Amino acid sequence: MDFRLSDEHVEYQRYCRAFAADVMRPVAARHDREQSVPWECIRAARQWNLNGLEFIQKMGSDPDGLLGVIAIEELHWGCAGIALAVSASSLAAAGIASSGTPEQIGRWVPECYGEGDEIKLGAYAVTEAGAGSDVKSLRTTARLDGEEWVLNGTKVFISNGGIADVTVVVATVDPELGHRGQASFVLPKGTPGFSQGKKEDKLGIRASQTAEVVLDDCRVPVDFLLGGMDKLNRKLERARAGESTGRASGALATFEITRPLVGASALGIAQAAYEWTLAYLETESDEGGPLLEQQRVQQVLADVATEIEGARLLVWRAAWMGRNGVPMTGGQGSMSKLKAGDVAMWAVPALMDLVGPYAQTTECPLEKWFRDAKIYQIFEGTAQIQRLVVSRMQRQEYTERLKEAAQVLEQPPGAPTGDVLGEDALAVSTY
Ligand SMILES: Cc1cc2nc3c(=O)[nH]c(=O)nc-3n(C[C@H](O)[C@H](O)[C@H](O)COP(=O)(O)OP(=O)(O)OC[C@H]3O[C@@H](n4cnc5c(N)ncnc54)[C@H](O)[C@@H]3O)c2cc1C
Repeated sequence: MDFRLSDEHVEYQRYCRAFAADVMRPVAARHDREQSVPWECIRAARQWNLNGLEFIQKMGSDPDGLLGVIAIEELHWGCAGIALAVSASSLAAAGIASSGTPEQIGRWVPECYGEGDEIKLGAYAVTEAGAGSDVKSLRTTARLDGEEWVLNGTKVFISNGGIADVTVVVATVDPELGHRGQASFVLPKGTPGFSQGKKEDKLGIRASQTAEVVLDDCRVPVDFLLGGMDKLNRKLERARAGESTGRASGALATFEITRPLVGASALGIAQAAYEWTLAYLETESDEGGPLLEQQRVQQVLADVATEIEGARLLVWRAAWMGRNGVPMTGGQGSMSKLKAGDVAMWAVPALMDLVGPYAQTTECPLEKWFRDAKIYQIFEGTAQIQRLVVSRMQRQEYTERLKEAAQVLEQPPGAPTGDVLGEDALAVSTY
């Protein structure tokens, strides 16, 4: 096991940090204040190859799976709102890639980014009032009418909502089947009946547009259903017959792979706050002397550094597992997001306490990082939902390990047990 980053990783980390420092930081406060879409940063990110199809391909080329979490952490170090504006299209692209046919993936994924210098955006619209964590309760409907699907409903809190060129909408085709009666549809910008509702005035990540998306008798051709009619019909038939599809565990496995990226986002904020505070305290003193030499200050800084490192190890481990096809049956992806979100939301106020009243002013960057940190306990699965996922996956894994250990112990005398018995016994005793 080698925990060091490779030369390529270190070089890429520096490259992303340069973009964050030189392109994002200078305009971060303005976009935060004005809540404006940072188009110039999105364009620059394309030029720097930190947005778009080539960026996605580069992430996929890393056998360790770390380039993605390194890039995301560094961009969020620059500004979490701008970083989300730069990267949110990937949610739509991932939705298309996981549900679409090869033809649909080839047609629509490029539409989420645009090609060459052309900038396009994607949005992924699931959440509704009363149906965020509880996804089975979606009320947006999709009804087949001849050769068209007709969609009705309102999606809330959608990143890039209203400004996206392509919005992937999850709607219910048969409400009685809960999540198994749902399907995903592609809605290009300008589709009649499809409009932006209220734009949210938010606490944090204000450079990322969040808005309602309204579907009012919105018609799309039948082939805008991701996966196609045959696949949907088979799925509905199986659900009506009460057969299991294994889809729930498939979706869980996909979330485990994407969650480390959200954890890396939260880490970027925590790291930014830590670095800034170190530099600030270097120059400050009080009656007890220079702040950095005081043990009460060192106690807090050590805890912040340790928590950030611990969360980063969870994020990197989960990213590596996802890339290398190691099943995250213990909820390692969810753990990484849970821990990193909680660390950011704990570390920033802990650092603010060291800085004192200045940290409460809008002149101090900690004030913005404090506002930006909260969302990482809310979206992409709230912290409470991550805890449920981790606890259920741990329980299942534990039960399976017990069963495996029991089987080994039941082997007749003389049967080859060898190291297997030792390993299993050890695994069980560590719980
Ligand atoms: C800035 C922003 C951007 C977003 N972007 C998108 C986007 O692009 N696309 C999209 O579809 N959605 C998006 N969302 C929505 C986000 O994913 C949801 O807000 C989130 O999943 C929570 O769902 P909810 O709002 O329905 O809250 P609820 O599920 O109603 O949760 C409310 C509270 O109850 C807790 N809770 C709920 N169920 C349980 C339980 N079983 N056990 C314990 N506690 C529980 C939650 O943890 C939470 O604290 C965004 C939200 C925000 C704020």
